[in-house]
Amino acid sequence: MKFLAVIGNPIMHSKSPRMHNNAIKLLGLKGVYTRYCFNQNLNLREELFKLGFDAVNITAPFKEKAYEIADFRDKFSSYIGSSNTLYLKNNKIYAYNTDGIGFLESIKEFKNIKKALILGAGGTALALAYILKQNGIQVCVANRNDKKFQRFDNSYQTSLYENLEDFHFDLVVNSTSAGLIDENLPCNKNILEKILVNARFAFDVIYSRETPFYKLCKKYDLKIKNGLEMLLWQGVFAFEIFFELKNKREEIKNAMLQGLKLLS
Ligand code: NDP
Repeated sequence: MKFLAVIGNPIMHSKSPRMHNNAIKLLGLKGVYTRYCFNQNLNLREELFKLGFDAVNITAPFKEKAYEIADFRDKFSSYIGSSNTLYLKNNKIYAYNTDGIGFLESIKEFKNIKKALILGAGGTALALAYILKQNGIQVCVANRNDKKFQRFDNSYQTSLYENLEDFHFDLVVNSTSAGLIDENLPCNKNILEKILVNARFAFDVIYSRETPFYKLCKKYDLKIKNGLEMLLWQGVFAFEIFFELKNKREEIKNAMLQGLKLLS
């Protein structure tokens, strides 16, 4: 019996328990997946072992902490310095990051991308920039200030929004929290319009509502997706790690998708 959870703060909004529990049920596995609101004054490593978790997903704002407390890290986590999946075995913690591959899987139908623009420079931007670059895509990261640019090495182009000179990108990704609980665009509308008119694809990491960015994209002749499939796929890849599964990807995906649809 595996004891699993998603850990964050806040955490009540998380859809992960519905996804994972439905997959556990439909694949006939033994386990339970819950939510755990972590108090950041506690020691995450100690808590994980004390509570007896076998594996967990980690969400905001603890992905960097999850990376730090691990004994072993996958290549992706090591590059970006954050992890969203922890596997505990024999008093050791193994850290993984499935956000990047989850994103990549969710944009599979976006073909022939040569240049991408990522709006925002936080942890998610870093994960997405890295996976795009690994796939031969030229990446520019734009943000409202330059404080977070130091995390991007010089294989990426970085720019403040107002300093952007090139507006030709195949793919535009909103990785900011703008529009999550407010009516903000990630940057000035005029700049966005100059970018969207040339783009073929747009992606918004936010999935809980239609953001102003998403609404603006709909006015242009491009294919748009929100972050729901990214959530789904990062969950599928984490589930494979939790249960050490191979060749069950489609079954896990369908079960998780059904779990999401069961949500009211
Ligand atoms: P971070 O806090 O690390 O980074 C947020 C970035 O957004 C920063 O660059 C920040 O700018 C920028 N930003 C925030 N608010 C605004 C605003 N009002 N206008 C312009 N820029 C803004 O967050 P994460 O990277 O961890 O997460 C970002 C989003 O991605 C969240 O909404 C999260 O829910 C979503 N997400 C979705 C996933 C999915 O599966 N679909 C998975 C992971 C995350 P500055 O540097 O100036 O602070």
